[in-house]
Amino acid sequence: MADIINLLPDNIANQIAAGEVIQRPASAVKELLENAVDAGATEIQLFIRDAGKELVQVIDNGSGMSDTDARMCFERHATSKIQSIDDLFHIRTMGFRGEALASIAAVAQVEMKTRRPHEDVGTFIEIDNSVIKRQEPCQTAPGTSIAMKNLFFNVPARRNFLKSNAAEMRHIVDEFIRVALAFPHLQFSLNSNGQQMFHLEKGSLKQRVVSILGQHYNAKLVTVKETTDYMNIHGFVGKPETAKKTRGDQFFFVNNRFIKSSYLNHAVMTAFAEMIPSDSFPLYVLFIDLDPAHVDINVHPTKQEIKFDDERILYAFVQSAIKHALAQFSVTPALDFELDPGIQQLDALTQPFTEQKKQQSSNTSIYKTFTHANQAHVIDQSSNLRHWKELYGPALTPDNENTVPSEQPVSSTASVIDERWQEAATDQKVPVQVHQQFILSQIKSGFILIDQRAAHERILYERYQRALSEKPIATQQSLFPQTLELLPADAIVISEMLPDLQALGYDLEPFGQQTFVVRGTPADIQSGNEQASIEGLLEQFKHYSSELKHNRREQLVRAMARNNAIPAGKMLGTREMQNIIDELFACTTPNVSPGGRFTFISFKLNDLERMFDRGA
Ligand code: ADP
Ligand code: MG
Repeated sequence: MADIINLLPDNIANQIAAGEVIQRPASAVKELLENAVDAGATEIQLFIRDAGKELVQVIDNGSGMSDTDARMCFERHATSKIQSIDDLFHIRTMGFRGEALASIAAVAQVEMKTRRPHEDVGTFIEIDNSVIKRQEPCQTAPGTSIAMKNLFFNVPARRNFLKSNAAEMRHIVDEFIRVALAFPHLQFSLNSNGQQMFHLEKGSLKQRVVSILGQHYNAKLVTVKETTDYMNIHGFVGKPETAKKTRGDQFFFVNNRFIKSSYLNHAVMTAFAEMIPSDSFPLYVLFIDLDPAHVDINVHPTKQEIKFDDERILYAFVQSAIKHALAQFSVTPALDFELDPGIQQLDALTQPFTEQKKQQSSNTSIYKTFTHANQAHVIDQSSNLRHWKELYGPALTPDNENTVPSEQPVSSTASVIDERWQEAATDQKVPVQVHQQFILSQIKSGFILIDQRAAHERILYERYQRALSEKPIATQQSLFPQTLELLPADAIVISEMLPDLQALGYDLEPFGQQTFVVRGTPADIQSGNEQASIEGLLEQFKHYSSELKHNRREQLVRAMARNNAIPAGKMLGTREMQNIIDELFACTTPNVSPGGRFTFISFKLNDLERMFDRGA
């Protein structure tokens, strides 16, 4: 019997291998853009026709190739980026396996022009189905232009698998955006069927984020930056109010390579917890840099998953960095950058969370602004302003607002804006209560409808937070101390919380096993209601204490806020409504209740006019 084993011809072997690397036009876009970046280009143009099915072309002004390299680069395992297995552990380039061009050449028709800057002539090369058709000297600009035509022309089964043009184009734009975000200092453009879709000038990461994701993010980005010996993180998260109902503007890069990680995504989401409604998604564009030796590079480079030495550290690091960032810019109510104690002991992580750092951040003016606001004796307009300014409309917004970096403290301009605020305030109409549940308040751009209970809960929550972290709430001494008899289990709960209760304005004293004497309550609780107030608090506390994610103090604060918030159904006077509005917008996170429900909804004049068919 004859032997039956054959070696596959190169072009078929390449076609099979190509299946891994080039699944659709967008895969070629990614590979070609990354090659241009690796080649040190500063200007990279992408041209697409027919959603990449007809043409994907990348033109760069990078290093170019010699005529031998121009032929070599299409061979499988041809790469200039590694020489030995050791190099694998120090890889900083985007590609290194030498598979992309070989794969592209196996499943499409390729034309390449390339010239090294110091040479007078370049090389033109044409390849079909892995076979070189033509190679000759040519005139061309320094750098490389690679055109991939008629993808899968020789593999009809795969061509049939391609999706609609709209779907394939979306994949292409996704890949383009990922590379463009990772390299803001390079210029990128994307032209599809003769139309310019993107033209991105070199600039800062912030400029790049805004020019890709939208100008409306300009004043809405919070800087994230932490540096340790082990790893660094930098980038931006959107302020909570920019969170959207659809996942979308969320990007993680590890050593500048885009990755998908539901694990790290979770770390970000928990840092945002309670600041945004639970079904919405904050923007983030985050870059994590760590020694490549800690990343498993054996994971295929075209896959977006990635393996790290120690995921737990990374998780804690990402979460803390974001909490820290949000706290520093006074977006978050809880200044709690504490890590899981087990993790905290790791040397590598102690650096960004030292006392000194905490000190630094708590010295920033914006931090002070928010910690002092709302205390009766401190009249701090600047913190009111922050949110008022946004709501009470364009008249309050300085014309150059868009160019002011969002992280700048407002204090320096406070007095100017202050005047405008006064102006706006007098312009306001009296708020109106609707069905004893909502407060309707006119603003420049329309009106807002405030949920009175949710709003008050937010106000109290922040007030109590501050009471625990800095200035205790004043106690109003009762004229006639009352005794409070409790069930044994409740008595234990109360005993454990005594110091915190004290800070929150309760003056309680144990009196035997299950009895307490109530000598005073927070000043805003009506006298005579002492007992009811504490019982209600206990009830709230027990009811919600199964929420394990919060520590006891947090639970206590939440329970108190819930217990003491004015209920729906309570009639409010004009003064009371005005106070709620003022205090709500002095909050650091006015838009949601501690439980994550919206505190108000705004109705825009434009929209209202449109509803009445008046929008011309
Ligand atoms: P890899 O990027 O993994 O090395 P590729 O198949 O993508 O493999 O590219 C093979 C080689 O071709 C690269 O290592 C590089 O030397 C060269 N090359 C590819 N694209 C370019 C380009 N745009 N400019 C200069 N050299 C390039
Ligand atoms: Mg490559």
